[in-house]
This record gives sequence, structure tokens and C-alpha cells, in this order.
Amino acid sequence: MSPLAEFSTPTSLYDLTFPDLEQELLASGVRPVHARALWRALYRKTATRWEEHAFLPPLRRWVDEATRGRFPLEQPEVVTDLESSDGQTRKFLLRLRDGETVETVIMGYPGRSTACVSTQAGCAMGCTFCATGQAGFARHLRAGEIVAQVLHCQRALKAKGLPGLRNLVLMGMGEPLLNYDSVMTALEIATERGGLNIAPSHVSVSTVGIVPGILRMAQENRPYNLALSLHAATDSERIALIPSSRRWPLKELIAACRTYTITTGRRLFVGWTLIAGKNDAPEQAGQIAELLAGIDAHINLIPLNPTDGYAGETASEEAAQRFKAVLQAAGFPCTLRQRRGIDVAAGCGQLRGR
Ligand code: SAH
Ligand code: SF4
Repeated sequence: MSPLAEFSTPTSLYDLTFPDLEQELLASGVRPVHARALWRALYRKTATRWEEHAFLPPLRRWVDEATRGRFPLEQPEVVTDLESSDGQTRKFLLRLRDGETVETVIMGYPGRSTACVSTQAGCAMGCTFCATGQAGFARHLRAGEIVAQVLHCQRALKAKGLPGLRNLVLMGMGEPLLNYDSVMTALEIATERGGLNIAPSHVSVSTVGIVPGILRMAQENRPYNLALSLHAATDSERIALIPSSRRWPLKELIAACRTYTITTGRRLFVGWTLIAGKNDAPEQAGQIAELLAGIDAHINLIPLNPTDGYAGETASEEAAQRFKAVLQAAGFPCTLRQRRGIDVAAGCGQLRGR
């Protein structure tokens, strides 16, 4: 049996979309109208204990039986809970049922919060500058394990009396588009309006450039933002940073992104991690502009965060500003991101799941 086979069937309540839940109730002889009460308890009240919820008897019986059997209420165990010194970033190391661990981050901004969740335990893409890539791949996460991270963040915010999540970004550990089905199911659950109700326009899927996944998102017209982690504007430079990008040459990748923006009418977000002497020269900014010509793209420049396995350093402030100026002059909206959560290794690319 493959190590994944055990996880390929829905095995927690959080793996079920709302229509799935209605189906399960129906199949057990419970009228599907009861699904709404259970969904509210799960995702509005973020229930952890059933005793506190007044369900009508048929639903109560189903929940008691289901949660003891096929559909337990899966709570990851919190191994560590670290807050950055400025109090704006909080990182959890969560242990899943089989012992694998993943990291989940809450980023606080004035009046709103963003959850940054993992989609795989580890990552197979091997980006040299990313701690997750340096550690390798363990397994895909089930939809329920992705949803459980979002719920964990929601509960943590509530416990502090803070407003619930507004944004959700799939920028934790793993490559979301290599775990497409679980990711899309999890997003359907997180955006369901009677539940967690995160607006689809406040959800971002970040990919290192899995061409079939990008085309599939376009074809299925998924209502989420797409962020492409580009980092290099020539194939040879890109392969040096992202060895597995050999599979899809830039020409093919950018064509897929163009198709995505045309088909969906949505803007493409492009991430560029700035590394001194590698990809921070003004000429390289010019190459980005050529590559993305005619595409509605917003470019986010991300200072390189330190990781144990990579010796590179982030671009200087002057180099970053020069780089940004070239892109803006070429007509691309461009943001230079602030570092955050570095003191607790919760920054982009610092998640190791240990
Ligand atoms: N696998 C996906 C999503 C997770 S990585 C992807 O790569 O897009 C989230 C973001 O962190 C990516 O944009 C990635 O390029 C960036 N990143 C990785 N390592 C980094 C580092 N050391 N410093 C800054 N950003 C990093
Ligand atoms: Fe994987 Fe993204 Fe890290 Fe690359 S940057 S190793 S794709 S998580």
C-alpha cells in the first residue's frame, strides 16, 4: 500500500464539503436539512465539544456515531506556539494524526488577520533557498488537514478576542498545485458562506509554477488569486534556484499564466524573492518586464529570509528600490514587502515543520 492510500478517503468531518455532508446525512437516513446546523457548529462556532450544541435528536445521533467512527473531529496537536517580538506574527507547529508535523502562521495587520497554511508536509520542489524545500517531501495533506489549520487559526484569534480571519494564503509548507484536489476541496469549505465565509477574493494560491495546475485553475475558473513564485527570468537562472522547474520552461509557464489571466479576467500576482548578486540587478528587472509584457500582473518583491541550508543574502535596500523602480517604469504595479516573523522563523520560506 502506498503511504498515501490511507489518507485518500475522507477521514474527518473537515474533509466534507457542504454538499458532501448533505449526502452523508441522506445516506444514513437523516434529512439533509440538518446539515446546516452541523455546519454552523463546525465553522461558525468552531466547535470542539458537541455537548455544547443543541442538535435535534436525529442529527445528535448521527454526529455521535460519525465522530466516533468515520468522521472524527480532527484537532491537530499544538507542539509549539511562538509569537514574534512585535506580536504581529504567530507560528504554530502542529502534529497530525500520523505524527507528521506542519507549520501554520497567523499574520496580524491593523484590524484584520491572515492565515498562512501548509498544503503538504514538506515539499518536493527543492528550491535551494527555502527551508521546506531543503528538508524534502513527506506527504500530501488531506483537505481536512488543511481546513483544520484554518480552524485552528480562527479559534486562536477568537480566544484573544480578535476579529476572525479575513485572508487565507496557501504559502506555508508545500506546493499547493501538486495537491490540487485536496487544496480545492479545502478552499471550497473555507469559503462556504454559511461557515468560515472567507471571501474567495481574499484567498491566494501560491505556486512555484506547476503548468497543468495553473491551466486547470483557469479552465475551472477557480475564484481565487493566483501567485506565481518566479524568482528568475531565464531558464538557466531559474533551474539553479528551483531545480524542478526544468520540467516547465519559462516560455510554457508564462503562456499558461497568460491563459489564466485571459480566461479568468483576474490579475496575476508574481512573487520574486530578492537574493543579492543572484536576481537583484536592474537588467533582471528589465527581463521580467519583457517576459510579462501584456499580462496584467502585480509584482511582490520579497526580501530573502535566512535559512540554514542556503548561504545567500537578501538584496540591499538600494538594489531593491532600483529593481522596483525599473518594474514600475515598465508599468507594473510593484510592492516591496516588509520582513516579518523572522525572530520566530515564521517568515516566507522559513517553515520546516520541526
Ligand atoms: N510552494 C509555493 C507556496 C509556498 S512558498 C510557492 O513556492 O509559491 C511561499 C513563498 O515563500 C514563495 O513565494 C517562496 O518563493 C517564498 N520563499 C521561499 N523561501 C524563501 C526565503 N528563504 N526567503 C523569502 N521568501 C522565500
Ligand atoms: Fe516548495 Fe515553495 Fe519552498 Fe519551493 S518555495 S521548496 S515550491 S514550498
